[in-house]
Amino acid sequence: MLRPSLLRSDTQLNTDSYYEASVTRPPAQPLLQGTVRADVVVIGGGYAGLSAALELAERGRRVVLLEAERVGAGASGRNGGQAIVGYACGMGPLEAQLGAEGARQAWAMSLEAVRLLDERIARHGIDCDRVHGYLYVADSPRKARALHAELDALQRDYGFAVEWTEGPAVRERIDSPRYVTAAYEAVSGHLHPLKYALGLARAAQAAGVTLHEHSPVRRLRPHGAGVRAETDAGAVEADFAVVAGNCTLAEHGPGVLRAIHPRIMPVGTYILATEPLPRALAASLIRDNAAVCDNNVVLDYFRLSADDRLLFGGRVSYTTMTPPRLRETMQRRLVRVFPQLAGVRSTHLWGGFVDITMNRAPDFGRVGERVYYLQGFSGHGVALTGLAGRLVAEAITAQSERFDLLARLRHRAFPGGPWLRTPLLALGMAWYRWRDALGF
Ligand SMILES: Cc1cc2nc3c(=O)[nH]c(=O)nc-3n(C[C@H](O)[C@H](O)[C@H](O)COP(=O)(O)OP(=O)(O)OC[C@H]3O[C@@H](n4cnc5c(N)ncnc54)[C@H](O)[C@@H]3O)c2cc1C
Repeated sequence: MLRPSLLRSDTQLNTDSYYEASVTRPPAQPLLQGTVRADVVVIGGGYAGLSAALELAERGRRVVLLEAERVGAGASGRNGGQAIVGYACGMGPLEAQLGAEGARQAWAMSLEAVRLLDERIARHGIDCDRVHGYLYVADSPRKARALHAELDALQRDYGFAVEWTEGPAVRERIDSPRYVTAAYEAVSGHLHPLKYALGLARAAQAAGVTLHEHSPVRRLRPHGAGVRAETDAGAVEADFAVVAGNCTLAEHGPGVLRAIHPRIMPVGTYILATEPLPRALAASLIRDNAAVCDNNVVLDYFRLSADDRLLFGGRVSYTTMTPPRLRETMQRRLVRVFPQLAGVRSTHLWGGFVDITMNRAPDFGRVGERVYYLQGFSGHGVALTGLAGRLVAEAITAQSERFDLLARLRHRAFPGGPWLRTPLLALGMAWYRWRDALGF
C-alpha cells in the first residue's frame, strides 16, 4: 500500500500552475541554521502564517517564520483566488455552536476579513489583480431553492443583500445555458493568489519578520516557559508558536501538534487555465468580471484572469490521488458551462489540497498557553486566513476574546485514522455526487 505522503506528492501538481508561470519569485530565503531566539515562531508560509507574522511584527514582536518549501507553495499559491465573505459551513453550525450573538460576531469578522485583505493590498502596495464582484449560481430548481434558502437567511439574519436574477435573464449575468438562478454581490471578489501571498511575504519582511524557506519544522516541544521549533539544521526558541501548516503539516512535521492532524482531511481540487481569450469574448462571458461559484457538492468555481484567460476550477479527489484523464474531464466541465469555448486551448492545469474539517467550520485553537494553531478553512480561506492571523496576534499580544470565540467551535477527527479516513470520505461523497448528477 502506498503511504499517504506519496499519494499526496502525486496530487501536488504544481509544476504546471498558471500562477507560478505569471510571477517572478524572489530568490529563496536562506534555510534556518543554528539556534535563534524570537518572541514568536510561525510555522507555515501560507496566508495564515504570513498574516500572523505580519500582524505580530507590526505589534512590535520579533518573529521568525519557517516555511517547509517556498512561500505560497501550499494552497495559498494555487487556489481559485475567490475572496469570499462568510464561512464554508454556512452560518448554521456557527449559530448552533456559538449562539445567535456569537454567530453575529463571527459574521462581522468574515466581513472584516475581506476589508482587511483590501486594506493590506492598498497599504503594502500589493499588485495582485484585485477585482470586486461575485456571482452565486445554481444549475437545477432544487439547487436554486437551496441557494435562495441560504442567501435569504443571510439577508434576514445578517442584513447581507444580494441581487437576484432568475430564468432566461440569468444569461445577462453569465453567458451560459447552465444556470437557472444567479445572485450577485460586490463584497466578495477575486485576485491572483500567488501575487497576494508573495506581497504578504514582502510586507512581513518589511515589518521585520525573519523568513526562512526550505526549513520544515520537524518537532515542536516545550522549552523552559516557551517553545522550541526544530528543523533539520536549526531551531527557534520562542515564547509562543503559531502553527499554520495546513494540509502538509503531517507530512513535513509529523512531530508538530499530532493531535490536530486527524481533524482536517486533504481534498484535492484542480484548476484549468485557457489560453488568453480575445478581449470581447472574455468580456462577454461574465458580467462585471465577477468570480463565479455554483452550489453543487463537487462545485465548479471560475473567473477571468487579468490577461483574459478563463481559470476554471472543479473536480475533486477525496482519495488524494490525481483523478485519471483530469485534463479531459476539466475541459468537458468547462465546455458544459461555456459551450462557446469548445475550441479553446488550455495552457495550464494544476491542483492542490483543501483543508476540510468534518463540519467545514474553521479549526482554531491553543495547546497550553504557548502554542496556537489555525487550520480547516475548508476551501474558504483566501479572505478568512488574513483575519485568522490578526486574531492570533491579538490573542498573543493583547486580548483573546475574538480568537476564543472561533476557538469555541468543536471539531471531531475524521473516522478511520490516516489509512481509512480518505476511502471512507470518498464513499460518503460519492453518494452526494450521485444526488447532484441526478438533480435530486
Ligand atoms: C486548488 C485550490 C483552490 C482553492 N480555491 C479557493 C478559493 O477560490 N477561495 C478560497 O477562499 N479558498 C480557496 N482555497 C482554499 C485556500 O487556498 C486555503 O484555505 C488557504 O490558502 C489556506 O492557507 P494556509 O496558510 O492555512 O495554508 P497553506 O497555504 O497551505 O500554507 C501552509 C504552509 O505551511 C507549510 N508547512 C507545512 N508543514 C510545515 C512544517 N512542518 N514546517 C514549515 N512549514 C510547513 C506548507 O509548505 C505551506 O506553504 C483553495 C484551495 C486549493 C488547493
